[in-house]
Amino acid sequence: MVTIPREMGDDLFYRYKRIMITPTIINKNGGTTQISTADISILAKQLGRSDIVIAHYIGKSAAAGMMIIGDKICYRKVMNAAEIDDIVESYIKKSVLCSQCGNPETVEYRESLVCKACGGVTR
Ligand SMILES: [Zn+2]
Repeated sequence: MVTIPREMGDDLFYRYKRIMITPTIINKNGGTTQISTADISILAKQLGRSDIVIAHYIGKSAAAGMMIIGDKICYRKVMNAAEIDDIVESYIKKSVLCSQCGNPETVEYRESLVCKACGGVTR
């Protein structure tokens, strides 16, 4: 488990944690990266966001085409776990953390993030 955000890493009592996605790299046809839809669902639940939005965000950030095949999300690019985690972290900074107090317990409301901890609104 990784803290949300990662910088809180050495605080054992920190409440907000998430999984780190473990991809499978297929070195065929130029190379693809597969992620299980179950992993994305768990991560989405931990972040309080939509799994499909996160899946698309990873593809867009990596400039990689995405396809869902069965229970796998496949990207047309080779990405290791650290690269995917950096993208997940950038999503958290952009779309999950409150800009005022840094708390990850926010809800999306229209085009803004509303913080459940301080009530701050991030646009
Ligand atoms: Zn806040």
